[in-house]
Amino acid sequence: MLKKVLVYPRGEIAVRIIRACRELRIGTVAVYSEADAESLHVRLADEAVRIGPAAAQDSYLKMQNVLSAALITGADAIHPGYGFLAEDASFADACAACGIKFVGPSPESIERMGDKARARALMKDAGVPVVPGSEGVLGDEQRALREAAQIGYPLMIKAAAGGGGRGIRVVHGEEGLSRELRTAEAEAKAAFGNGALYLEKYLEEPRHVEFQILADEQGNTLHCGERDCSLQRRHQKMVEEAPCVGLAPELRREMGQAAVAAARAAGYANAGTVEFLLDRQGRYYFLEMNTRIQVEHPVTEMVTGIDLVKAQLTIASGLPLDLRQEEIRASGHAIECRITAEDPERQFAPSAGEIRSLLIPGGIGVRVDTHVYAGYRVPPHYDSLLAKLICWGRDREEAIQRMTRALDEFVVDGIHTTIPFHRQIMTNAFFRRGEVYTNFIQRRLEA
Ligand code: ADP
Ligand code: ADP
Ligand code: MG
Repeated sequence: MLKKVLVYPRGEIAVRIIRACRELRIGTVAVYSEADAESLHVRLADEAVRIGPAAAQDSYLKMQNVLSAALITGADAIHPGYGFLAEDASFADACAACGIKFVGPSPESIERMGDKARARALMKDAGVPVVPGSEGVLGDEQRALREAAQIGYPLMIKAAAGGGGRGIRVVHGEEGLSRELRTAEAEAKAAFGNGALYLEKYLEEPRHVEFQILADEQGNTLHCGERDCSLQRRHQKMVEEAPCVGLAPELRREMGQAAVAAARAAGYANAGTVEFLLDRQGRYYFLEMNTRIQVEHPVTEMVTGIDLVKAQLTIASGLPLDLRQEEIRASGHAIECRITAEDPERQFAPSAGEIRSLLIPGGIGVRVDTHVYAGYRVPPHYDSLLAKLICWGRDREEAIQRMTRALDEFVVDGIHTTIPFHRQIMTNAFFRRGEVYTNFIQRRLEA
């Protein structure tokens, strides 16, 4: 087993990883920027190293600072978490060059899946259905226009290096396409340092269904079932649940097998997620693979009882999976609400500042993953995620009722949060009936 892990991310996921390390008796090193000195992960870790000022470019994104912290403290591994450099193949490569184990897939696997246009081609070869769209990244404008005409409208322009719902635009017709392509390219360059684009047919009201993969370094690959992440705002997930309501067992089996085939095609090891869109006719299409632990992993943990972060650490220690596909079953239903420091009354404007008082909900079937506490100051520099509220119930109805109750208990004073918005979702009649699709929030709540 690993002895000491440098926990690279900040925020709730850093706390989550430290907890798993503790239970495995692995030592922990937190890294933090000047703005995060008061964060819970810094207090909880055995050791903590300051790696720079508030600006992420000068701290969390400075690879040499992170690696130096690992070398100075004698950490034998780095857990990348999610966000920042977590899906950067050169980070995984640099870790290996320093003799530090990267708790994740190989740089080659990250690279295969990191370019979303190339991943589509790889999936096609592996027999996994992809959303109809362009072949690889777009070439010059003339070729792009021809490809667009072939795909038909509406379509989506996406950044090959995109993530976090950014760099995606819907185009309804030919007029303006050239302009949209140029803007998208400039945006992708600015956001991801890579202007490569690809096109996909725009699917009308699909559901986002993704499968959790676990693969060890001995070549065993399995999935831990699916999550429905259809409740999104601006292509960013807000609420996730497991299992996916109304998914026929036959289709679940088929999609699970496709997800495992996708991971195998990438030569994948460790935890990862294969994302699909599912249309109203029950056809599914590969969207992308996230080569890391995901924000919404707890809903899978709640229904399967598997500690996914511990699994990541044991896999990275070189141990084989002690699970078989047939043994993994979902029991009951789990829902996660992402509580962010944003004001739903003001178009989700970021809301930084001091949390004056905090009441965290509890009771049976309630889990809260967070790095905040009363007196904590939410810095304005980073991701707005404050806490994840996860509720389990014997069935979906009980999970929704429990979530509604837990949201009512949850008090965060001093800043605005999305708690009231989540309450609206939980009480929405269409949501309660399980009628969810990716534009649900836009159509049922923001209209
Ligand atoms: P990211 O890398 O930012 O996560 P994804 O490719 O996973 O981007 O897409 C994010 C979300 O955007 C999806 O969950 C879905 O809601 C929407 N989306 C993506 N592609 C399509 C498509 N072809 N048709 C309709 N919606 C899509
Ligand atoms: P999940 O599917 O795990 O919810 P998200 O797409 O919401 O993942 O991303 C998780 C975190 O990683 C967010 O903080 C998001 O902003 C960040 N992220 C994801 N992809 C990228 C990327 N390509 N560049 C920068 N940050 C990213
Ligand atoms: Mg995605």
